[in-house]
Amino acid sequence: MKRRYFVGGLAAAAGVAACSQETPRCESANGTFAETFKWSCVTSWPPRFPGLGIAVNNLTDRIAAASAGRLKIKVYGGGELVPAFEVFDAVSRGTVEMGHDASYYHKGKVDAAQYFTSIPFGLNHLELNGWLYYGGGLELWRELYAPFNLVPFPCGNTGVQMGGWFNKEINSASDLKGLKMRIPGIGGEVFRRAGGTPVTMPGSEIFTSLQTGAIDATEWVGPYNDVSFGLHKAARYYYYPGWQEPGAGLECIINKDAWASLPPDLQAIVATSCQAITTDMMAEYTHGNALALQQLIDDPNVELRRFPEAVLDLLKSLTQEIVDEMSAKDPAAAKIQKSYYAFLEKSTPNQRISEQAFLETRRE
Ligand code: CA
Repeated sequence: MKRRYFVGGLAAAAGVAACSQETPRCESANGTFAETFKWSCVTSWPPRFPGLGIAVNNLTDRIAAASAGRLKIKVYGGGELVPAFEVFDAVSRGTVEMGHDASYYHKGKVDAAQYFTSIPFGLNHLELNGWLYYGGGLELWRELYAPFNLVPFPCGNTGVQMGGWFNKEINSASDLKGLKMRIPGIGGEVFRRAGGTPVTMPGSEIFTSLQTGAIDATEWVGPYNDVSFGLHKAARYYYYPGWQEPGAGLECIINKDAWASLPPDLQAIVATSCQAITTDMMAEYTHGNALALQQLIDDPNVELRRFPEAVLDLLKSLTQEIVDEMSAKDPAAAKIQKSYYAFLEKSTPNQRISEQAFLETRRE
């Protein structure tokens, strides 16, 4: 591979086309490559779902446009080509070249991956990006996925989520006992230790489960996505803050062999487009959540509630217990935990006097 680039580079430097049958990456005189690629991207989301799903189409449209059609990627919603929770395996095996999902869905397979979506009471979206792009987080993520033949990219963030929809009031920690709630990742394990029963299900099944009483509560994302699923019609109490997901990062995963097959300019286009989607998704959520929250505030059938401090304190101490246990039995998790919390500790004083202090002083 390297030799081909080298030969192509020389030809481009000499101002001649390096195209022949022996050079599949046919480089033109201006240094671009003519080879075209057709990929498939599987996702965990309902097709074109606001935020999460739209972002994937935004990503592939940008890649197609920036590459002048040399990398075309067809997007499949959850269940269309592979089940919503089998994205990781499908891309790892090379069944498809690309996937878009959340790394905490890989709990049980690669537990430490949960650090790259969100950790309860952990980094917010600004801090997660700071850690990933500048604090060594992305290198740790690449190292973790290498044995699975996957190259991960941060690709989207929902921002701080909501605590979720409940069909009864949560006035104390004992009110969590016996509740069946859709809540994935470490948040789910925290909820289990608080006496509840966590269940995981794709987004598309949440509304019916809540409405029929198959579950008593659910977290999903925030006002923008929750309203689009109609969750406000299935439960009355909407709790905040989203302790379980303070800034959920999404991932674009690419099969390592497929990634290696791309010439460097297409690799740069993919990497840059993923980073652009991280910004774009956050903008979509910031706008969408603002409008949807207003709708919920105006809805007489919805009551917005803050979790009592005692409940949050319990959930926080259970989170610490779980991440410590995870590190004790998994050296990969220990290494990532150390880096993650070292940054969280450094970042907190700055967030307190910047984002937090500013919002407290802004007039409504
Ligand atoms: Ca969530």
